[in-house]
Amino acid sequence: MKAVRFHEHGGRDVLKYEDVPDPSPGEGEVLLRVRACGLNHFDVDLRENVSRWPIPLPWTLGVEFAGEIAGVGAGVTGLAEGDRVWALHELPCMACRYCLEGMDNLCENARMYSVQMPGGYAEYVTAPADTVFPLTDAMSFDAAAAGQIVFTTAWHMLVTRGKVRPGETVLVSAAGSGVGHAAIQIAKFAGAKVITTAGSQHKLDAALAEGADAVINYRDENVTERALALNDGEPVDLVIEHIGGDQFGQCVSALRKNGRLVTCGAHAGEVIEFDIIPLFRNEWQVIGSRTGTTTETKRVMELIGEGTFEPRVHAALPLAEAAEAMRIIEDREQFGKVIVNP
Ligand SMILES: [Zn+2]
Repeated sequence: MKAVRFHEHGGRDVLKYEDVPDPSPGEGEVLLRVRACGLNHFDVDLRENVSRWPIPLPWTLGVEFAGEIAGVGAGVTGLAEGDRVWALHELPCMACRYCLEGMDNLCENARMYSVQMPGGYAEYVTAPADTVFPLTDAMSFDAAAAGQIVFTTAWHMLVTRGKVRPGETVLVSAAGSGVGHAAIQIAKFAGAKVITTAGSQHKLDAALAEGADAVINYRDENVTERALALNDGEPVDLVIEHIGGDQFGQCVSALRKNGRLVTCGAHAGEVIEFDIIPLFRNEWQVIGSRTGTTTETKRVMELIGEGTFEPRVHAALPLAEAAEAMRIIEDREQFGKVIVNP
């Protein structure tokens, strides 16, 4: 089969579109013919070896994907060749203390495609049969591959960690990112007012089209001051932050007393100065978040399947053009998600 792999860490030029042996499904596994694989900035981090995850070389990236069953291993029932499915991107052990406490997104022994298992930048991938789930007829491979991680992550941030309530005002940073555009849709679904930020006019326009009530250009405007002005002079109830750097501080400062900030990313700056005094005087809550549980992932994929949420596919490129797909991510050109089609 064809796959995109890299034999050494580095820039996009290390990516090779090459022939690799076909995988075959073991007992309890299925062979998946990958039709769409979603890109994440994590892919870039793994390629450049800045992710803090060790991976063997040569390696195949691709965390989230969807496709058709192309073969079943021994003992697999209920799935047949040709079935359209999406694959759970991270497989919890369901035995550690966190899994047993219902927080399998914090599993101590989880295996993820692209880290512990070869990923979806390939024509075929094997997967445990009980970790693939059917697509509705209305759900495209592209939507399934684009939606899983960002909508689950945004759901976990807003609903589980942030406890968003109808009528609240939510400030979402970086509307154009995968998590940002998903957070806008989910916050509106939850009945919140949404103010969001972006660094270019076309992304601000797209955010309004996505349902945001008001937008802030973070390159030209102070986010704290502008968020209050757009909220009748009142600070916001909840911040969904995933950029880090100086945006983190500007977003924290937009919070009302007892307000919550949930963060899941820091590509613009992982280590920042932070004033602790307003944190305790205002009883702000700063809450960490990663992707959601398996239950949340399945619920979110149902809602995408029903058309309640619509992942935006900014670009869908052939697998052979994976380097160009990664360039779009690295240059932050996209609104929504970039995918490859093996
Ligand atoms: Zn576990």
